[in-house]
Amino acid sequence: MELEKLDFAKPVEGVTAFSTTRGQVDRRNPYSGVNLCDYVGDDALRVLDARLTLAMQLGVDLDNLVMPRQTHSCRVAVIDEHFRSLDIDQQEAALEGVDALVTSLPGVVIGVNTADCVPMALVDGQAGIIAVAHAGWRGTAGRIAAKVVDGMCRQGARADRIQVAMGPSICQACFEVGDEVVDAFRKAGFALDAIVERNAATGKAHIDLRAANRAALVAAGIKADNIITSQHCSRCDHERFFSARRLGINSGRTFTGIYRE
Ligand SMILES: [Zn+2]
Repeated sequence: MELEKLDFAKPVEGVTAFSTTRGQVDRRNPYSGVNLCDYVGDDALRVLDARLTLAMQLGVDLDNLVMPRQTHSCRVAVIDEHFRSLDIDQQEAALEGVDALVTSLPGVVIGVNTADCVPMALVDGQAGIIAVAHAGWRGTAGRIAAKVVDGMCRQGARADRIQVAMGPSICQACFEVGDEVVDAFRKAGFALDAIVERNAATGKAHIDLRAANRAALVAAGIKADNIITSQHCSRCDHERFFSARRLGINSGRTFTGIYRE
């Protein structure tokens, strides 16, 4: 399985962040390639196979691969010893409707599934705390970026030490939106001139989700120099990363994970 490594501004020893790539793709099949997401209509055995392959590649047990059931919320869950003491059903309930995870446990791979939305991996190397978040336009406007930073700080991280790596996501040129989306960002207090452009030909608004998340992170105390943004566009490069805009909602997802040894 080929992983796209995500770099932090200052590498943190023992901490690795990555996004999966689709690998060999059958263009007629929107699930074709590596998909770890089990609630987007893909075959359950294929998903399990992808999870097993990734867990083996990273050298962890399947139990230590933790991903939430995302719903474009701004909820953050902490993966700690208490979570690990729960049975499978209780763990699933704890991960329902969650879009960001925080942990300080070594050997646990936390991740989110995206197709165009912005995945971000975060680390405070000194505190030994890592996190991951999924930010579509709703989560971005709802400032999930600030909420995951807050979740890390509650565990002992410090915003001025946190580094962020954003994985592959839709580029501004590809992300045409309706005016109700622009309104949501206006109401959430974002500086629109920094994140919205109008296409001269169509008059449609295009939002820069990466810039919006960067702004939310900086407002939450993250140093701008500590934020690295992948320039890969999932829609432009849909044979390497899944894109809901290109392949439809019924398609696979790119998994972006982080773990510490
Ligand atoms: Zn693009």
